[in-house]
Amino acid sequence: MTDNGDFTRSTEGYSKITIDNAAKAKLMLEKYYQQVIEQTIDREKRRREEEKRIESELYSNDRKSRLLAQYGTKESDYLRLRRTKLDISDFQTVKVIGKGAFGEVRLVQKRDSGKIYAMKTLRKSEMLKRDQLSHVQAERDILADSESPWVVQLFFSFQDETYLYLVMEYLPGGDMMTMLIKYDIFPEDFARFYMAECVMAIESVHQLGFIHSTDIKPDNLLVDREGHVKLSDFGLSTGLHKRYDYSKLQETPKKTVQNNLTVSKQDTIASWKKSRRQLAYSTVGTPDYIAPEVFMQKGYGKECDWWSLGAILFECLAGYPPFCSDSPHETYKRILSWKSELEFPSDIHISSDAEDLIRKLLCDADNRLGRQSVSDIKDHPFFKGIDWDNLRNQKPPFVPELTSLTDTRYFPTDELEDVPQDLTTNHLTENLKSSTLIRRRDLAFVGYTYKRFDMMTRRGGL
Ligand code: ADP
Ligand code: MG
Repeated sequence: MTDNGDFTRSTEGYSKITIDNAAKAKLMLEKYYQQVIEQTIDREKRRREEEKRIESELYSNDRKSRLLAQYGTKESDYLRLRRTKLDISDFQTVKVIGKGAFGEVRLVQKRDSGKIYAMKTLRKSEMLKRDQLSHVQAERDILADSESPWVVQLFFSFQDETYLYLVMEYLPGGDMMTMLIKYDIFPEDFARFYMAECVMAIESVHQLGFIHSTDIKPDNLLVDREGHVKLSDFGLSTGLHKRYDYSKLQETPKKTVQNNLTVSKQDTIASWKKSRRQLAYSTVGTPDYIAPEVFMQKGYGKECDWWSLGAILFECLAGYPPFCSDSPHETYKRILSWKSELEFPSDIHISSDAEDLIRKLLCDADNRLGRQSVSDIKDHPFFKGIDWDNLRNQKPPFVPELTSLTDTRYFPTDELEDVPQDLTTNHLTENLKSSTLIRRRDLAFVGYTYKRFDMMTRRGGL
């Protein structure tokens, strides 16, 4: 070999290194093309199946061609998602803005594009402990699948050894829980607007085929830049994993509840208000918005989300949720005895229309408004005057005042100062150390990044 190394032609033709490299490149190319071809065949098969499925439906031709076009868009979105190989170093933390049961939510900036997102991290070890995997899958799929304006949009998802990451649009208006902490109660017009938007949001999630989100509560209702509502957090938060822990609620806590007798209702409400943010952060969570039938092991349907809506409406007008107590166990008992426990405040005026709607939502699943059709809720006198088809074009009662794209004034960032701001340093060095080990537990997460397509094309979602 000469000084010029493998770039110099030897008398026989090419140097050994060049030949080796060429062979390697050839192999790589072959492998690459083989993959591309396999994927293309796959895609072609999927397309034909989807076309056949759409053809066989009794839709109008118009609708059919619309569905086919939609399918094309999804497919190219999927390809884009597949091509993007991201990791945590592609993002820079601006601030921690939220905390959930399995990790935190950060305002982040993507380094190459400068774009701003909200990034939710979920600690794998925690999730395995709590058997949350199917729920993350549900959350990721619902966020990815949805082009709905009522659902927080997911842009990327990826993982490393320690965390799963969901990179979503940033909703700068904060959540409804923070708003309720600030204002205590809403005027009825306010509540009417937010509840109407919730009805649309819940309806759109049901239409996606996800029948029991069971996690409709104020901290999962987010407010966008214009002041409109979007749903976040599908099936992942403290709410759903409680589904597995409900039995715990049934046990009488060891601590005697005797002293409750001396605690007045006012005190209970006051202490509930004081600890509500901590409750939202804890893995224990609060059952305050969960329908009674969900606690039973007998199965339940999408009408459980309408109960939650009723509980939130009550809270918007009264300042506390209808069955709030000193402990999750007490709340659970009160919800099961809703017939005698549902009581309207005597010192706060609630219109008879609002009360009537609440009573028709906080009731037996069989009689609950919305069970037959959402239009039964939309037609209720409380919503009189709502222009359902144009809600998102109307000016919301509260429009966030923001000075920049990274304004976080509607988030409790002071309370989150103890959370490490940046993720990039510590756990990544940890990862490097163990990157050669394929950990068995990671197998559980294999489908995490790419499984989306399957969900998107399956009829009726989940
Ligand atoms: P968990 O799954 O544990 O309930 P959430 O998804 O509800 O976690 O996130 C916790 C909090 O973080 C929310 O209540 C909200 O304040 C904030 N948050 C979550 N997602 C976003 C987002 N896309 N934009 C802005 N804030 C968000
Ligand atoms: Mg939440």
